[in-house]
Amino acid sequence: MIQSKGYGAVSADAEVAGLEFSRREPDARDVVLEILFCGVCHSDLHQVRNDWGGSTYPIVPGHEIVGRVVKVGAEVTSFSVGDMAAIGCMVDSCRECSSCQDGLEQYCENAPTFTYNSPDRKGPGTTMGGYSNNIVADEAFVLKVPAGLDLAGTAPLLCAGITTYSPLKHWKVGPGQKVGVVGLGGLGHMALKLAKAFGAEVVLFTTSPDKKDDALALGASDVVISRDSDAMAAQMRTFDFILNTVSAKHDINPYLNLLKRDGAMVLVGLPSEPLPVGVFSLAAQRRTLAGSNIGGIAETQEMLDYCAEHKIVSDVEVIKIDYINTAFERMVKGDVKYRFVIDMASLK
Ligand code: NAP
Ligand code: ZN
Ligand code: ZN
Repeated sequence: MIQSKGYGAVSADAEVAGLEFSRREPDARDVVLEILFCGVCHSDLHQVRNDWGGSTYPIVPGHEIVGRVVKVGAEVTSFSVGDMAAIGCMVDSCRECSSCQDGLEQYCENAPTFTYNSPDRKGPGTTMGGYSNNIVADEAFVLKVPAGLDLAGTAPLLCAGITTYSPLKHWKVGPGQKVGVVGLGGLGHMALKLAKAFGAEVVLFTTSPDKKDDALALGASDVVISRDSDAMAAQMRTFDFILNTVSAKHDINPYLNLLKRDGAMVLVGLPSEPLPVGVFSLAAQRRTLAGSNIGGIAETQEMLDYCAEHKIVSDVEVIKIDYINTAFERMVKGDVKYRFVIDMASLK
């Protein structure tokens, strides 16, 4: 066993605090990382608080991990000690089902092994995430960090980056299209940067008027305050695609009416409550409402390489780990510009 220390929660109403735990002994195909940076995703908070049900405690969150390889198993071929490497939302999957065979491990029919709060396929117990000093994972689920990327700004690419890159690719967003991004948080600001890099015209929808200047600087051609019904009505039937990143219950119907005929809105935000849908808005213009979940391992590497080539990283506020409960409070208020990243050197 490997000894680890990190920050986690012992129950749904406990604060996240320092704790010690053990990880499985690495096998011949495993890589051990010393974690340098870990992004703070809203999914971490949802799961710490058991918003979605199914959280097991203690829970050590964190799935936007960048670190240095400190040990490799005898059969590892892709990594050497000293390499910079990254781990996202998954550390394993069944590798046999049709989704796994298609490189879509996130849709594994036998459930992916998520980086935390999943039964560990390779060992006893539950996986523990990146709010910690080290991690063990099979090399097949470890990503290469391209040279030249800022490491703190790279960490959020492992979830916020791939979760927005994958649907933008799948729905073929590109030049000549008008794209909406709903919510300017961790996912939203990456969606904005990536959709702009793909050549689309991007409009940001926000509930926070004070984020307008930042959105324009990040590449939006226009910013719509979503609580302003006149401003919303002015955008009626003009969008090819909308990516909705909102983390809380909200009315999605006004956005459906902004889609052109055959337009699509894809939900990546994961509020715990159901969202009512007015079917007439869908039927009237043959619109699509869909969802999307992170991205596969090969696509995550493709995204990292794309970001290196286009010099795209996340805009981050680097924090010490003992700031994490305040960071969560600020996240609930929408006060994140635009991703908290924990500097793991602060873990004593
Ligand atoms: P975040 O940084 O907190 O951003 C969420 C944004 O949503 C906020 O900044 C805010 O933007 C907007 N918002 C929050 N509450 C709202 C409300 N009541 N009404 C309208 N807008 C509201 O969160 P994140 O890390 O980007 O994650 C967003 C969601 O995606 C979470 O639910 C997370 O669990 C989920 N997620 C899903 C996947 C996936 O694979 N599908 C992957 C990662 C995360 P404005 O201030 O601009 O309005
Ligand atoms: Zn995430
Ligand atoms: Zn599978």
